Amino acid sequence: MAKEKKIVVKKQAYIVNDEIADQIRAKMEEKNKLFFNIMGSIGAGKTLLLERIAERLSSKYRVFVINGDVATTIDADRIARQGATTVQINTGGGCHLTAKLILSELDKIDVDNYDIFFAENVGNLICPSSWDIGAQLNIVVVSITEGEYVIKKHPIIFKGADIAIINKCDLEGSDFDSKVLREDAAKIKSGMKVICTSAKSGLGVDEFISTLGIKNP
Ligand code: MG
Ligand code: ZN
Repeated sequence: MAKEKKIVVKKQAYIVNDEIADQIRAKMEEKNKLFFNIMGSIGAGKTLLLERIAERLSSKYRVFVINGDVATTIDADRIARQGATTVQINTGGGCHLTAKLILSELDKIDVDNYDIFFAENVGNLICPSSWDIGAQLNIVVVSITEGEYVIKKHPIIFKGADIAIINKCDLEGSDFDSKVLREDAAKIKSGMKVICTSAKSGLGVDEFISTLGIKNP
């Protein structure tokens, strides 16, 4: 395929994706459902955070989680053990979820049977930022073990985020520090909510849940 034609096809794919994402958002809002997109690198703690959230919410809310990974159902299985209904999307090689992938999962269920929806995106800080999946809020999780430059080096995904989670804050001390990450997140997007969490200890998880606008967990 000629180079220009390839660019046109790619642009078209973004346009189609964004249309589907808008449809998903409109449907969720009309039905009064919450839908959150959790992004972040491999190992940042997205799955453990979702386990903590499912654990806290499942007695009051019907939680549905869509997990994106290249292979395996490990994450969906882990979160399901905490009381959420989960489905695993295997992208095969794709490094992000798309609105079309989300819609095809939502079409298989009765959305009215659930209250709160999460998607755990494929682990990386690059292309998930270009693919709107129709969530009402976009959350990026970084951990303090990823180094102090991780936010500076990935400004686009943070610009598009509503909440930045600085995870593994139980390790805060002489080797790891959240200060630069907190400052960088706030600098990249004014008004960004930044929360330090430890999915391991549970630190900050309640604050995260209330920031999502979830009442009385
Ligand atoms: Mg995961
Ligand atoms: Zn990708």
